[in-house]
Amino acid sequence: MKTDSVLNVALEAIRAVTGSGSAPVALHEPCFVGNEWEMVKRCLDSGWVSSAGEFVGEFERRLCQHTGARHAVAVVNGTAALHTALLLAGVMPGDEVLVPTLTFIGTANAVAYCGATPHFVDSEEETLGVDPDKLSAYLAAAVEVRGRQSYNRATGRRIAALVPMHTFGHPVRLRELLDLGVRYGFPVVEDAAESLGSYYEGRHTGTFGKLGILSFNGNKIITTGGGGAVLTDDPDLAQAARHLTTTARVPHAWSFIHDRVAFNYRMPNINAALGCAQLEYLDDFLSRKRHVAQAYLASFSGVNGMRIQVEPKGCVSNYWLNTLVLDRGLEAMRDALLAALGEAGIMARPAWTLMHRLPMYTSMPRMDLSTAESLEARIISLPSSATLGAKVADS
Ligand SMILES: *Cc1c(COP(=O)(O)O)cnc(C)c1O
Repeated sequence: MKTDSVLNVALEAIRAVTGSGSAPVALHEPCFVGNEWEMVKRCLDSGWVSSAGEFVGEFERRLCQHTGARHAVAVVNGTAALHTALLLAGVMPGDEVLVPTLTFIGTANAVAYCGATPHFVDSEEETLGVDPDKLSAYLAAAVEVRGRQSYNRATGRRIAALVPMHTFGHPVRLRELLDLGVRYGFPVVEDAAESLGSYYEGRHTGTFGKLGILSFNGNKIITTGGGGAVLTDDPDLAQAARHLTTTARVPHAWSFIHDRVAFNYRMPNINAALGCAQLEYLDDFLSRKRHVAQAYLASFSGVNGMRIQVEPKGCVSNYWLNTLVLDRGLEAMRDALLAALGEAGIMARPAWTLMHRLPMYTSMPRMDLSTAESLEARIISLPSSATLGAKVADS
């Protein structure tokens, strides 16, 4: 009985934002309101739709402007960007890489592509990202520092990197995590796939680690259809990223000479044309998404038993996906609310199934993951499109 009434209150609070009409409401739909047709047409007219052409370089320049990164290398998707970044960070077969269990599959898969093992770490309530305090206590017991590197005491494998992820656009506590990297001798590679437009201490996410990555998949804040980018301030790493993602072809007027086994990961020009147009509207998308977040916050302000995730202190979040977090004890309501929303034509989603529960990753090393396990049972992602923001602002 009691749960039923809480559920109805939550449902009404969501409908107050999404509107109570009968048209289905998407979780996150792309928004094409600018020069997309014009840019893609220019690309088609130029005949350069594939791995050469003006738009890829232009897109990279604009990414640098928006993020403050010195270098951006555009690739086919965010997972490929992360694979590339991990290889350049020095991840080798047989290594372990610390990754949150509460993340999209791409984070863990990119580690596996390197022949390395994902080592799963816990998240915290405040940011939904890696918990630096808990990780610090865990590392003190679980790893041995030899020379300037750390090794897992249980497996003997080297800890080669840490990949924090800015969950749903909310920045993690980067300072503390970077400090751990220094103390234990591993680089930080930021999975900023969800956080284009999010800032930590006034600086763009994805620019703190040795390397960072972005994604421009169809559900992200801007899209290139499929796409991603590697960010770094290091010119040598940027050069290496470019080489590694373009089949390691040695520049020559006509000969096909490749100096290592590498990848065909370069972003096609036609995708970059779309990306150039989308970036022109990034600031507009960000303000619309902030409207959506404010609308959810207002709508849930008097509702007990749950909260809307807010940007962490000292951070600016892009509010990519607004998240309803149920209080502990209300786990049973998650699926009931998801079902009720589905019936009402409102697309909402649970968090990802935790990585350590997926068949290929069940036997991987891990710390205590109780907070991530609890969060997974209590998280619902709510409709958050920029198009919804326009409606909210008009009403
Ligand atoms: C979207 C996303 C990626 C990359 O996804 P692609 O579909 O490969 O672009 C990586 N990590 C996280 C956390 C993501 O949300």
